[in-house]
Amino acid sequence: MNKELLNTLYDTFHISSNVCLYPGMECKRKPIKAHSIQNSKVLDLLSDNSHLIGLKSLVDNEVNQDIIFDKIGKNKASTFTGLCSYHDKTLFQSIDDFEINITNNKQLFLLAYRSVLKELHASITAAIKVQTVYEKTKELGLVVDEKQPKPAEIAVQKIMDSFDTFQYKSEFDKALLKSNYKFLSHKVIEIETKLPTIACSTLFSNDAVKYKDDVSRIIMNVFPVNEKLSYVIFSFTSFEKTLAEDYLYKCLNSAGFSRNYEISKLIIRNSENFFINPKYFKNWSETKKNKIINYFLDTVYEDKDLDHADYYLF
Ligand SMILES: [Zn+2]
Repeated sequence: MNKELLNTLYDTFHISSNVCLYPGMECKRKPIKAHSIQNSKVLDLLSDNSHLIGLKSLVDNEVNQDIIFDKIGKNKASTFTGLCSYHDKTLFQSIDDFEINITNNKQLFLLAYRSVLKELHASITAAIKVQTVYEKTKELGLVVDEKQPKPAEIAVQKIMDSFDTFQYKSEFDKALLKSNYKFLSHKVIEIETKLPTIACSTLFSNDAVKYKDDVSRIIMNVFPVNEKLSYVIFSFTSFEKTLAEDYLYKCLNSAGFSRNYEISKLIIRNSENFFINPKYFKNWSETKKNKIINYFLDTVYEDKDLDHADYYLF
């Protein structure tokens, strides 16, 4: 059954995890490792000796995860193989080769679109991985820990997530092809920093809130523009504006330290695609690292608004 679902996903949408996701899905060029976070400026600002700190999974499946913080090369950080080199270059030229202007709707749209592509690619890859684990478990007749979510259920869920993310991405494609950048609304927050600490690019769902037959979604991009200033940009479809503002209420209605703290929690709860400046990370205690990893793991299947001073990331 899972396999059938997965095949339907491929057949219906002509996709696999190794295809250029440019609108239309007809591009036959081979995808390259494209950055979801801008490499030349953002990752340069955050890296130390060409390295950053990111989350790394020690187990190669989504059922039993063991996560640590580890060094990652700047050229690998945030990459996904979801676009060919031609489309990666031409599509994102105006955000890769020019300064981000927070009043430029096209640039803000493209930032969000790149997060959506990355997430779609991740979601298809996850579905395939989990399906493979599920088949292997069956094949070997392994007994699954009853307290853990069952691989079969996770596999179906991941495949359904890919369907939903694909439909969502298709709406962005239409807006992109018509240059209808007002399809999205944004909330931009400026954070003053002593040194750039973190960058993140993510699309996440607000599972508690239904929108049409689906969940409501928010895109979050966090990145430094220079040593002293970072941007946090929330993007959502104009139709989901009220739902998004409700979810982001605490963050949009606070200032300074409390606001940065709320943003930090949103990053940990909703992203695995975030990267930390090693110069900042080296002062973290083991307790802080563990607190953050545990919060991340705690919210993989269910969103929780928990509090601890160690969650602060700026
Ligand atoms: Zn292409």
